[in-house]
Amino acid sequence: MKKADYHIHSDFSPDSTLTMDQACERAISLGLEELCFTDHFEIAEDIRIDYTKYRQAVFRARERYGKQLSLKIGLEVGFDKNSQHQIQEYLEDKDFDFVIGSLHRAEGLDLFNGEFFRGKELKVAFSDYFKVIHESIPSFDFSVLGHITLIKRFFLLLKVNPSDIDWSYYDEGIQAILQDLIARGKGIELNLRNPLLDLDFRVLRFYKELGGEIITLGTDSHHTTSMHAMEEGFQALREVGFRYYCVFDHLKPLFVSI
Ligand SMILES: [Zn+2]
Ligand SMILES: [Zn+2]
Repeated sequence: MKKADYHIHSDFSPDSTLTMDQACERAISLGLEELCFTDHFEIAEDIRIDYTKYRQAVFRARERYGKQLSLKIGLEVGFDKNSQHQIQEYLEDKDFDFVIGSLHRAEGLDLFNGEFFRGKELKVAFSDYFKVIHESIPSFDFSVLGHITLIKRFFLLLKVNPSDIDWSYYDEGIQAILQDLIARGKGIELNLRNPLLDLDFRVLRFYKELGGEIITLGTDSHHTTSMHAMEEGFQALREVGFRYYCVFDHLKPLFVSI
């Protein structure tokens, strides 16, 4: 079975020092057959990729590693209500293989430093988080929604005990997002960043039940040590009843049996 990691940040992302060469060498040693670089594009933080340089770098890596590893050009674009036209315009004349749409900021506030959650009751903050994702879906053309359960990464920051959370409270919000994605021909990613918080059977089952088929796997790596062979992800998909996962080529999903 072909294994492909569809969420890798090279040093084109300001928060990563991973060179494309290092990522390729690590991927080959892990037995992966394909990598898709998905560097950050975040208008609100003025993080924009120089497309020409990015593409040249991937082409150079292809020259070096192309015999052992297929390399794709992707992007992780942060949803941003105020810049959706700018984002769409940027994407329009580029030739990306794959685009992840991810929520990193909401209502103009940063999720990662806790700003978004401050002063809100947790249930309200989490419901708002899913609501903002839902509202963001039509904002530009992306291939899959990134890390739908990102809020789990903030438990420590928010001093939340994970076992106190009643996830069923958010079921409707999550299902509405998945339904909308499916209707628009967009997929989800199973984000396999350690400690595998996004490996959420509840979400995977909903997606399967609702008829979702497009799902990519990615480690969201920013350094070589966090890259892995993603076996837990493939296993989870099989358990839920998926028979395929996806890779992309020029924004078209291709199904790979698992
Ligand atoms: Zn992200
Ligand atoms: Zn990422």
